[in-house]
Amino acid sequence: MNANERELHLFYIRKAVEVSRRARASGNTPFGCLLVGPEGEVLMEQGNIEITGRVCTGHAETSLMQRASGEYAKDYLWKCTLYSTAEPCAMCTGSIYWGHVGRIVYGISERRLAELTGDDEQNLTPDMPCRDILARGRKPIEVVGPFPEIEQAVVAVHEGYWT
Ligand SMILES: [Zn+2]
Repeated sequence: MNANERELHLFYIRKAVEVSRRARASGNTPFGCLLVGPEGEVLMEQGNIEITGRVCTGHAETSLMQRASGEYAKDYLWKCTLYSTAEPCAMCTGSIYWGHVGRIVYGISERRLAELTGDDEQNLTPDMPCRDILARGRKPIEVVGPFPEIEQAVVAVHEGYWT
């Protein structure tokens, strides 16, 4: 990854951070993601909806994949990138896999996130890096992240949220 590619990834992760901020402000957990098309266009944004939507699978990435699969063909989604503030959990990695998005880019790792959430019952996420899940898959989905440069901005949205 060259410096320009890195800057571009950070540009979209910063946008996802804004989505995560809005998710928190709306009464949900502070997670956000974007779907970016092959030409760099932002196709969709999605924050977490699990609390206000009363949906146990309402993580940002899974919710986005459910929407995206209704709007775009799989062949097109394969050329897209899902940007997320935090590494997708096991469920969301599965959703991205089945939704057939070819690349995942994230800001902070699942383990870094677990340091923030601690034992909060709202986010007892499995300790399962998305690369480990995808390594057992049958599609060459590319994974990029974490990005130390963006950690502080991602973490700031979580401050004071988890107990
Ligand atoms: Zn998830």
